[in-house]
Amino acid sequence: MRMRDYRLVAAFAISLALLLRAERAGAERANAPVGTATSPAAADSESDIVRFAGGMIRVDYKATDFTLTREELHEWVRQSARATAAYFGRFPVPYARLVIEPARGDQVTMGRAVGRPEPRIVVTMGRRTTAAELANESLLVHEMVHLAVPDHDIRYLWLHEGIATYVENVARAQAGLMTVEALWAEFMREIPEGLPEPRATGGLDDTRSDRRRYWGGALFCLMADIEIRKATGNRQGLQDALRALQRQGGNLSRMWTLERTIDIADRNTGAPVLAALYRTMGPRPHAPDLTRLWRELGIRHERGRIVLDNAAPLAAIRRAISDRPSAPLLVAAPSVVRVATYREAAARP
Ligand SMILES: [Zn+2]
Repeated sequence: MRMRDYRLVAAFAISLALLLRAERAGAERANAPVGTATSPAAADSESDIVRFAGGMIRVDYKATDFTLTREELHEWVRQSARATAAYFGRFPVPYARLVIEPARGDQVTMGRAVGRPEPRIVVTMGRRTTAAELANESLLVHEMVHLAVPDHDIRYLWLHEGIATYVENVARAQAGLMTVEALWAEFMREIPEGLPEPRATGGLDDTRSDRRRYWGGALFCLMADIEIRKATGNRQGLQDALRALQRQGGNLSRMWTLERTIDIADRNTGAPVLAALYRTMGPRPHAPDLTRLWRELGIRHERGRIVLDNAAPLAAIRRAISDRPSAPLLVAAPSVVRVATYREAAARP
């Protein structure tokens, strides 16, 4: 299986914490790029601008570092941006910078996102990574989702990582980049990792396990999605709550309290779902009956594959979460995507 960013989260969390602290203290130099200033690629770096309705992403990388063609890389960026924009109703920020750093091997190994001084994602990618590998790689959607969520105290990193982990999968299924069966298979396989450890006394706020932080947060999101849909007759879900945060100006460049985030999400829904769920899972360990949950959603293993049962009690909720919308947003249409290439003036010989 591909190495994912949560497997390197210890380094990630430390660097994020350091970055956030530096930024909060005003110590980070304006315009100081993450990870590029001292890399060998910086001397003759190239930038591509990937444009789409409502936004653009500047992609900084050195094409000769990778066997991948420029078009193949653009395709990954476009598809990831399309899935993210379709989930949130628009891309989280009008402009973001994406830095691709080379590494050994043929896989994407790590990603991180920061909101200040500009929205920026840094991805570490193997030099021999193929287009086929990228077609199944959700890490870039994960990092783009981070851009859409307000920053919180480091104690609530599980919420940020949970939203990114949950939405990276749901958004890609809704966009047709993965099948709904693959989505639910991933959740059935990984979400149990988010349950409290045996004899745990603390909740998600106190977890020291990286995998529990990511998948416990994702479990929180799945529970929130289901409970919001139960409370609203399946008319709204977590997607609507996250869009409400966006409408109130929430994104990674803003520091919000957890109370503010929960309050805006719950006011949009009209039911205090997130507040109640946080009280249950945040400060205390909570282990919902996942076997029963999968059964009620109509998801089961049969002869080594996932079978979805539309007669199950919560099947309509499951389909509202993961099925492709019948009327995709205009922003999702490939025809609105253009790519322009230029070489930075400073890079000319
Ligand atoms: Zn993350």
